[in-house]
Amino acid sequence: MVNIDNIRKLVNQVVSEARSRCPRVICKRKGIRIKQKWLEDTEGYYYCSKGIKTIVVNSRISYDRQTMVIAHELGHAIMGHDMSTNFIRTYTRFSTDRYEVEANFFGFELVFNNGEERTYDELIDKYGLEKEEIRQMGLLVCGQRTLAWRF
Ligand SMILES: [Zn+2]
Repeated sequence: MVNIDNIRKLVNQVVSEARSRCPRVICKRKGIRIKQKWLEDTEGYYYCSKGIKTIVVNSRISYDRQTMVIAHELGHAIMGHDMSTNFIRTYTRFSTDRYEVEANFFGFELVFNNGEERTYDELIDKYGLEKEEIRQMGLLVCGQRTLAWRF
């Protein structure tokens, strides 16, 4: 069972240490490499090799969409989802795998829970989310266009 409160606390801790909510800045401060790469069939992935943590993000997707992917992969890196050797975590939207769900919450919390109001259209058009994803992640549309967290 994924504990949302713990993930929220972790995000707050990471943000206060880095003095930034920007996933790119946090990666830099934590020594996590970000590589852009032309990828055919995935938006990004994360791996750790010889102690070096690396996030690879698809250079074909928009800057804001890349932010979402980096935030998700940063979640894997920070939550220690790299116990096994020779693993690669590929970005997935609808996986029920516990680590994937945790990384999604981490990413959403980091990018969206900053006190700013986000519109439904913004989440879809700017950040490339899907309606079903927004529903699953517990984002609710309040009124016409304002979003809030269910948790
Ligand atoms: Zn993942």
